[in-house]
Amino acid sequence: MTNKNTDKNAGNVRVRGAREHNLKNVDLDIPRDALVLFTGVSGSGKSSLAFGTLYAEAQRRYLESVSPYARRLFHQMPVPQVDEIDGLPPAVALQQQRGSPTTRSSVGSVTTLSNSLRMLYSRAGDYPPGQELLYAESFSPNTPEGACTQCHGLGRVYEVTAQSLVPDDSLTIRERAVAAWPPAWHGQNLRDILVTLGYDVDTPWRDLPKKDRDWILFTEETPTVPVYAGLTPEETKRALKRKETPSYQGTFTGARKYVLQTFANTESATMKKRVARYMVSNECPLCRGKRLRAESLSVTFAGLDITDISRLPLARLAEAMRPYADGSAKVSAKERAAHPEKLIVTQRIAQDVLARLDVLLDLGLGYLALDRSTPTLSPGELQRLRLATQVRSNLFGVVYVLDEPSAGLHPADTVALLRALDRLKDAGNSLFVVEHALDVIRHADWIVDVGPAAGEGGGHVLYSGAPEGLKAVEASQTRRFLFPDEATPLREVRAVDPKSAAWLRLRDVRRNNLDGLDADFPLGVMTAVTGVSGSGKSSLVSQVLVELVARGLGHEVPAEPEEGEELERSAELPLEGHITAGLEQLRRMVRVDQKPIGRTPRSNLATYTGLFDHVRKLFAATKMAKARRYDAGRFSFNVAKGRCDNCEGEGFVMVELLFLPSVYAPCPVCAGARYNAKTLEVTYRERNVAEVLGMTVDAAWEFFADEPPLQRALDVLRQVGLGYLRLGQPATELSGGEAQRIKLATELQRASRGDTLYVLDEPTTGLHPADVERLIVQLQKLVDAGNTVVAVEHDMRVVAACDWVVDIGPGAGDEGGTIVAAGPPAAVARAKASRTAPYLARFLG
Ligand code: ADP
Ligand code: ADP
Ligand code: ZN
Ligand code: ZN
Repeated sequence: MTNKNTDKNAGNVRVRGAREHNLKNVDLDIPRDALVLFTGVSGSGKSSLAFGTLYAEAQRRYLESVSPYARRLFHQMPVPQVDEIDGLPPAVALQQQRGSPTTRSSVGSVTTLSNSLRMLYSRAGDYPPGQELLYAESFSPNTPEGACTQCHGLGRVYEVTAQSLVPDDSLTIRERAVAAWPPAWHGQNLRDILVTLGYDVDTPWRDLPKKDRDWILFTEETPTVPVYAGLTPEETKRALKRKETPSYQGTFTGARKYVLQTFANTESATMKKRVARYMVSNECPLCRGKRLRAESLSVTFAGLDITDISRLPLARLAEAMRPYADGSAKVSAKERAAHPEKLIVTQRIAQDVLARLDVLLDLGLGYLALDRSTPTLSPGELQRLRLATQVRSNLFGVVYVLDEPSAGLHPADTVALLRALDRLKDAGNSLFVVEHALDVIRHADWIVDVGPAAGEGGGHVLYSGAPEGLKAVEASQTRRFLFPDEATPLREVRAVDPKSAAWLRLRDVRRNNLDGLDADFPLGVMTAVTGVSGSGKSSLVSQVLVELVARGLGHEVPAEPEEGEELERSAELPLEGHITAGLEQLRRMVRVDQKPIGRTPRSNLATYTGLFDHVRKLFAATKMAKARRYDAGRFSFNVAKGRCDNCEGEGFVMVELLFLPSVYAPCPVCAGARYNAKTLEVTYRERNVAEVLGMTVDAAWEFFADEPPLQRALDVLRQVGLGYLRLGQPATELSGGEAQRIKLATELQRASRGDTLYVLDEPTTGLHPADVERLIVQLQKLVDAGNTVVAVEHDMRVVAACDWVVDIGPGAGDEGGTIVAAGPPAAVARAKASRTAPYLARFLG
């Protein structure tokens, strides 16, 4: 480790013996009050050092000083494996959270700007004559004072319709025409009650008299009648006539009543989710979707009620505030004389709001609105929102730990990001940043380069010092990109002849800021979609393109609703636009994204790629397994017969602690092996199945050298740079970049027929330039086999290596949404109106 120009005592953070994850007993001294960049290939140990060690330790020290009750409110990091850390200031992590944030929040609540606006409306709004002043809470739909009385602040009302309760009216009641009814026993019970009541349960629903259908669905009556379980309608009739003893007395509930009651009262999230499928939502007629009471909505500022002002893009909100902040807004002399204090309050709040908005605009977020819900934001947007909030927080003497703040940023936006980081530093803070973008790395005061490779092959600090010094470190993978010998393009691009090429043509697309857009993508090549953030790339590619192609191919729209989000989604805009050509050339569409390959530790690399099936078959074919009649299922930790009973194959158990978050500990019975002792007695070439799951891909590749199907699968995993992962590494431990490459490897393993469309959204996020090179090689293989790749991308080195570029913009939000330029990279790099052009040109030599 190099360690120049550091005074041993002053202003340094000193780490000794860090061993978190793959870190190899690392010693490190890094300056405070500086911008420190952690670099290295994916999986080298950057996050383990910056987050897993430095941030985790700072948090641990902080939590020791607070009450056990307060501690529970934190997402606690595990205690880091490290001998000693000195000189560490308190830390704030601005980490990207992949997956769904659990709490409902919006841009306004994350930035706390909503609070300021409520204060503004309460104290300085224009009230109708005679109306009393309202408290700030009255402007929040989440308080009883503010919430609309009809929809309780949801903005939507939920109802059922005959269509939503009976999706397929060709079915009979016995065939579950009333799909909304509970499944299993309770559903049969309701059917048997109808039999007793004399309804026909064996005629298709649509042929039943309307009177009967309406009663079954909508009645509020709940008659209790004798039920003869298991008897046919005829037998039931006879039994009733003879007054035979029934099986039991059953109470009927109409379908509407059942759905609404369950939705309102159930404590089970699964039940709620289930019945929600049978409801439709409409805008609340009372507040017209604005979620607030009429009195609250009657108060205006700058001519808008608080809901309307929260729907403005931040850039326009700032324009609306500016005259009030600088005192240039027109106020009548009468008003001025009547409420002099109101003017002062208005100016103070407007100045504060404007100052905070300016930071958000500077970070390129002017296209967002305060009412935008955080689950619809990308992780990068959310991180920048939180960063902007910190810039205005006036904290000093803390370390901010950030995870790839450039994610989702066009090079034109990166300049503003660097400005925001500088402001935090100048205010007297330290910044520890994990990053891959070279523009950001070049801005560092200090670089900590981790490597040389990933996983077991990494975990060393190769360099710690001022940026220039890295030039001399031969082992560093980062060096080659930071100090390139010459601008060598990644590859030769394929020529696309607009006349002879086959095209996927989208027409009249409408979504978010796209308003009647036409877009063409050449088939059989690799296309990059570029543009500043908020210009409409994701709306076009990840939303409309994916949905239209899915519909055209007759696939389910591959949306993966996040927990508890269904209801919001049902309010989404319908799919607008159509495909006029190219669909006939496609048979499949695959999205290769960075979402986890599974949400529980039960899924892992080996199960996801399917290679574990082969492994289990090999074990089942051993002599001992045959003698004991163990089949392949025996070697799955998800199946009762083979797995450890105590932990049910999890390998660890949860230990509940009073006043503290529960912790996971290795299972005391199997010691983390996940299998029972009998299963582990079976070995294949002297290894049991738990030992195989413990192998890295590289080790398994050697071990299974004479098993061609396994070799092939392991080979592609190595090619995408994942040789360092263990076969049994749980899905929950994998980074987004690792998950993406596993998906890609799974695709590469299939026999490719050249009729697949691969859609990627910022595939290079989380990847070191060296990993990006590998990724490009793999994507090109898919294209060489005749497939089509369309990727949203910001890394200009990658864009320069694509065959075709579609540049969207020119700006964000309302100022974007059109195609500024489309063509081969060299042509787009010359387009005058394109903000991408100058950055792309640098990579075209
Ligand atoms: P980087 O940030 O450089 O991409 P990480 O610090 O995330 O790398 O990972 C370094 C190594 O530690 C990798 O081999 C990774 O698979 C492993 N690792 C990361 N998180 C965990 C975890 N929660 N448990 C076990 N191993 C982990
Ligand atoms: P990009 O992918 O280029 O960053 P997006 O397609 O995400 O841009 O966004 C384009 C515009 O559409 C922006 O103004 C953005 O705020 C808006 N937008 C994107 N997603 C949503 C959504 N779920 N709800 C409302 N507006 C959205
Ligand atoms: Zn309402
Ligand atoms: Zn166990």
